[in-house]
Amino acid sequence: MISFYPGPSRVYDEIPLFVKDAHRLGIMGINHRSAAFMKMLEQTVKLLKSKLEIPSSYTVFFTSSATECWEIIAQSLISKKSHHIYNGAFGERWFDYTKRLKPAASPYVFHPEDELSAVSFIFPGANDVICITQNETSNGTQVSNHIIKEIRKNNPFHIIAVDATSSMAGIKLDFKNADIWFASVQKCFGLPAGMGIMVCSKNALSRAEVIKERNHYNSLHLIIEKMKDWQTPYTPNVLGIYLLMRVMEQVKPINDIHEQTLNRYEHWVDFFSNGKSIKFYIHNNGLRSNTVLTLSATPKLIQKIKKLTADKGMLLGEGYGRLKADTFRIANFPAIKDNEIRNLKKLLQPHL
Ligand SMILES: *Cc1c(COP(=O)(O)O)cnc(C)c1O
Repeated sequence: MISFYPGPSRVYDEIPLFVKDAHRLGIMGINHRSAAFMKMLEQTVKLLKSKLEIPSSYTVFFTSSATECWEIIAQSLISKKSHHIYNGAFGERWFDYTKRLKPAASPYVFHPEDELSAVSFIFPGANDVICITQNETSNGTQVSNHIIKEIRKNNPFHIIAVDATSSMAGIKLDFKNADIWFASVQKCFGLPAGMGIMVCSKNALSRAEVIKERNHYNSLHLIIEKMKDWQTPYTPNVLGIYLLMRVMEQVKPINDIHEQTLNRYEHWVDFFSNGKSIKFYIHNNGLRSNTVLTLSATPKLIQKIKKLTADKGMLLGEGYGRLKADTFRIANFPAIKDNEIRNLKKLLQPHL
């Protein structure tokens, strides 16, 4: 089954091979305090930084999921206030989780057909956390690097945190425009689920040092201390880190991947452009996500094409949350192959 679900999704073909290697090389039983593990962690971070063009001053951490990153930010980086700017279900969930830990969290909901207006978000004071969902996986919209840069410029004394769970490693992100970026590996990284990646600026680390929250096993303060020695507070997903290292060794630099993602996206736009029955859920092409396509059709047609594709070994993504009945989603993730996209298009063509 080829999964076009926007996470968990199709993994790279080489994954089974890498798993075998991990077994052969004794990675599966490796001690996470050993020199061999520390070296592997260091190498994985080095590759991530070089392939994704993460500035050298930033620090990379591994967590268990993107959801855990939401919680780490709430407990360890928000001293009082956070501002959540979103237009869909994932941004809302981030806000909901945060509010339970830090009740002063405020929501700022914008319409999915409107561009996020950077000038509307100039916050007074300092050290609040501004939370932006860069790629909203539920409705297939994205916030551009340019707008994040504007928000950075307008709020130089606040911390900016960006949820890039379903776009990191699929498009080029301008890391220097924010303090915290996070993702999980089952989306654009083409890996099996079970790990989150969190990228932090020096500024974010200093805030964690000032706040010094250390009540949790995953307190950022503790994670930072351990990472200085290429260690983690708890036994990490060692196999996950190994697989990430192997995948990062083989993937093209982010500029090439970005180009491929945009190319494929444009082809999808062409493909659906004359469609009468299937249309992009978001009309404004400039606001759409390049990595998660959300399409509208009647519930009846959606049921039909879901069955049709499943019969041919292809799994389409369900609509998310409120959009479940009358949308479906197609992942435009790097691990998917050209011929798989062609096959999917062939099946969809008669139903456009
Ligand atoms: C998938 C997703 C998450 C949750 O990721 P987990 O790894 O399941 O915790 C959070 N935010 C966005 C935007 C996502 O797409």
